[in-house]
Amino acid sequence: MIKLENISFDHCIKCTVCTIYCPVARATHHFPGPKQSGPDTERLRIKNPELLDDSLKYCTNCKRCEIACPSNVKIADIIQSSKWRYFKNVFRVRDFFLARTDLMGSVATRVSYLVNFFIKLFPVKFFLDRFMKIPSERRFPKYAQGTFLSWYNKHRKEQEAFAEKAVYFHGCYVNYNNHDLGKDVLTVLNAINVGVIVTDEKCCGVPLIANGYIDKARKNALFNIHSLEKSASAIGARIVSASSSCSFALKHEYPNLLEIDNSAILDDLDYITRFIHERFENGNVPAMKPVPVRAAYHSPCHLERMGGVMNTIEVLKKIPGLDLTILHSECCGIAGTYGFKKEYYKVAQKVGAELFKRIERVNPEIVITDCETCKWQIEMSTPYRVEHPVTVLARAIDGKKL
Ligand code: SF4
Ligand code: SF4
Repeated sequence: MIKLENISFDHCIKCTVCTIYCPVARATHHFPGPKQSGPDTERLRIKNPELLDDSLKYCTNCKRCEIACPSNVKIADIIQSSKWRYFKNVFRVRDFFLARTDLMGSVATRVSYLVNFFIKLFPVKFFLDRFMKIPSERRFPKYAQGTFLSWYNKHRKEQEAFAEKAVYFHGCYVNYNNHDLGKDVLTVLNAINVGVIVTDEKCCGVPLIANGYIDKARKNALFNIHSLEKSASAIGARIVSASSSCSFALKHEYPNLLEIDNSAILDDLDYITRFIHERFENGNVPAMKPVPVRAAYHSPCHLERMGGVMNTIEVLKKIPGLDLTILHSECCGIAGTYGFKKEYYKVAQKVGAELFKRIERVNPEIVITDCETCKWQIEMSTPYRVEHPVTVLARAIDGKKL
């Protein structure tokens, strides 16, 4: 049976604007574009699931088509859900490991020195390329030793002492790879008199969705909603995330793609720069030292879809001395685990090529972006270091070198 709320494909007026905005359709002739893969063929797939073709798999779920669509057709959601509804679920070792960031992180952070050393060796790269279909050119983010959560637990009491608190969804990247970003969140929120509370959480589900582990993604979503709701309502706090993709999953992918009711937390969820910007607007701006750095800002696709880019830009504009160039909106191409797959690697790099050229033209000292996977992609494909806006703000507050 077709659910009435899932027939947004019927609102398509065939204007093809989405296809013009699709970075993948521009990069490869293997993907016919959002209009054809989404609304045009969904009505046929509903009647006959055999009318399915492999080109759907090229969609990165960047949501740029949905931003462009004047009829509010949920094009990317239609394509994503078609992938797991109609394709036969074939187990692939690579996709299993790419999807399980929690599992990989909890093992790798116990022996991070070994993992970080071995992952760069030629025989390991050769093995991954040949047998796992992870291209040898792809660089992996480094693992940290231990988890952010264990560091945070030593500081929990100080955070609980603040009168106002926010519940912080740190995500896998901060927990297993980049503790410093989590520490920077504490620096910034504490400077505006907000304590940071961390509660139990599981992977937001983005890599699980991308690799077809929908039941597991739904379980994680239910766990996260329950845990965040319990912590936030107990102390009357808002919920913040400094990962644009985690934030997007909690807000939009849970109800729209996973069909999980997130209304218990929805009104309390903020991407972190929205939370900070709101306080800045109310006059709660901490003392800041100049950060005399030439920076280029790249807006991630999912933050654009949430309408949150303006908050990040406004917050960055408050940093004294920061020489900021806003880059033209482009997709970086990595799309989470998409750029880690040999069959899509070339498309991912071609999608990102225009962004890389634009960064090179600006030739900044650093690039700033809100998304961890955009950071990996830009650092791998250009000579530039990439920092999170919260990190830049934290350096303005603590005066340490960026
Ligand atoms: S989600 Fe991105 S890649 Fe997929 S159809 Fe839309 S614009 Fe193209
Ligand atoms: S932009 Fe929207 S209305 Fe226009 S063709 Fe694409 S899906 Fe249809």
